[in-house]
Amino acid sequence: NLMNIAIDGPAGAGKSTVAKLVAERLSYLYIDTGAMYRALTYAALEKNVNLEDEDALDQLLEGIDIDLKHTKNGVLVYVNKADVTELIRTDDVNKHVSLVASHPSVRIEMVERQRTLAKGTDAVLDGRDIGTYVLPDAELKVFLTASVEERARRRHEEQVKKGLPSNLEELKKDIARRDELDSTREFAPLKKANDAVEIDSTSMSIEEVAASIINLAKE
Ligand code: C5P
Repeated sequence: NLMNIAIDGPAGAGKSTVAKLVAERLSYLYIDTGAMYRALTYAALEKNVNLEDEDALDQLLEGIDIDLKHTKNGVLVYVNKADVTELIRTDDVNKHVSLVASHPSVRIEMVERQRTLAKGTDAVLDGRDIGTYVLPDAELKVFLTASVEERARRRHEEQVKKGLPSNLEELKKDIARRDELDSTREFAPLKKANDAVEIDSTSMSIEEVAASIINLAKE
């Protein structure tokens, strides 16, 4: 039986790390839906498209292929054959992605692409609206949370490890602002699905979270 696992939750809760690990262990396809919104945001910033202009963004999206390529070194993100894996993780993209993702027509197109990717295969998807909107019939839904302090601390640690400049207070602000935008937008906001299992990862390791999701998948 094919299975879709939806992992939703606020920014920095560890969704992508956990989703990747769960997908690897179960030999499922991992689909990073946030990377798709980030890819469009990057393309729009590069082309100086007005991010408030829903139609312009929609048109831009129509002309771009977003590919998530699975390689030995992880998932690479391509926009029209150009590797943007690193470019979609900048502060600039962080700052603007929630605005881009707030436009209904952008979401409708992205969701269609996400459903196509997940169709007919075992997959783990991480995002904000997977359990509530993209795949309401997903066999397993997880809502992954952690305190804002802990989420900012983890991001900070990641940045420092990569040798990138990082400011804990700034990260905390960015995360809180993104959560606010994502959960108050009109169309398919960040929200726990009624039938999702909530996991608070504040004092759990990645391993522990992954193991508990795999256990749920086997139930
Ligand atoms: O998960 P990640 O932090 O990469 O997502 C970036 C942004 O993309 C989120 O803050 C949110 O605004 C948007 N997003 C969304 N719906 C999804 C995935 C991401 O609106 N399914």
